[in-house]
Amino acid sequence: MSVLIYAENADGKFKKSIFEAVSYARAIADQQNTALTAISIGDVNADELNSLAKYGADKILNAANAQLKNFVNQAYASVIAEAAKKEGADIVVLSNSFSGRGLAPRLGVKLDAGVVDGAVELPELNGGKFTVKKTAFSGKAFAVVELTSANKVIALTPNSYKIVEAAKAEKVEGFSVETNESDFKAMLKEIVRSTDKVSLPDAEIVVSGGRGLKGPENWGMIEELANLLGAATACSKPVSDSGWRPHSEHVGQTGIAVSPNLYIAIGISGAIQHLAGVSSSKVIVVINKDAEAPFFKVADYGIVGDAFEVVPKLIAAIKEHKA
Ligand code: FAD
Repeated sequence: MSVLIYAENADGKFKKSIFEAVSYARAIADQQNTALTAISIGDVNADELNSLAKYGADKILNAANAQLKNFVNQAYASVIAEAAKKEGADIVVLSNSFSGRGLAPRLGVKLDAGVVDGAVELPELNGGKFTVKKTAFSGKAFAVVELTSANKVIALTPNSYKIVEAAKAEKVEGFSVETNESDFKAMLKEIVRSTDKVSLPDAEIVVSGGRGLKGPENWGMIEELANLLGAATACSKPVSDSGWRPHSEHVGQTGIAVSPNLYIAIGISGAIQHLAGVSSSKVIVVINKDAEAPFFKVADYGIVGDAFEVVPKLIAAIKEHKA
């Protein structure tokens, strides 16, 4: 029995969400009184690999070969499953990222494991039962899932578990596994970045605008506020439907679900379909000129006022604070 964490990299670096997942996996290993092994796939340098020990990995496996340079869902799932078997890991943890969501069901099949994606808390171990709390219905509700299988795969929602340092000795080992042709039926050939801005699903702060902003020409202040805060920008569905902003910024039931530490909603009414994708944010700030706007019901802080007056004042105050 042990725990395996798949440490996914982006251009050779581990994101904050991976350190959260390593900390989470460490806590599960401690619950089970067992060891934690991390596996990295692709090109990652020694310093970066060693950083996984800082958050609790007892051992770090490095599966690097030319074929595995870019993410290939089937091949990566085969490597992780092999690592789990070799390490005797009965629990595999992933980040609930785009690739993590693709890998989790494949690992479920390969390891004959029960799968929980979107986990938000540590498993509860009560009377022999192993249950995990997860988001459900696009973040509108939580579900508690019992895993009855011997092997388990858990994908952790980014920003839902804090990073904890656990200083383990650095111990990196090479890991090679025979992949076969059928693992490479669908290959990633190229990644074309659409923007250099903070990526929305990973952002710790999101500044989001709605129809109350009247038109695309008014997004300058949203971007300025986001830049000052190191935040990603987002919008409501009608905003992207009207072509004011790209569809990649649309959050909600039919868009991206986000759970940043801070979500600032400006000129957004707070319709249930919008809330479905943002309500698990840690702190919600709402700026709306209508005191009856439904968004205020879920806000931690609310400012009733005209966005065209409030946002420039907010920008000026942040600039003054930073000066
Ligand atoms: P509005 O509802 O028009 O609200 C604008 C707000 O701005 C108002 O509260 C107003 O008081 C305020 N305002 C106006 N002027 C100012 C000002 N000067 N300063 C400050 N505040 C101001 N929506 C999503 O966002 N995401 C989804 O994923 C999504 N999926 C959907 C799926 C389905 C099946 C359906 C039916 C709908 C979906 N919607 C979704 C649409 C959703 O129901 C709402 O229509 C939408 O969220 C409203 O967008 P909004 O708040 O920007 O606009």
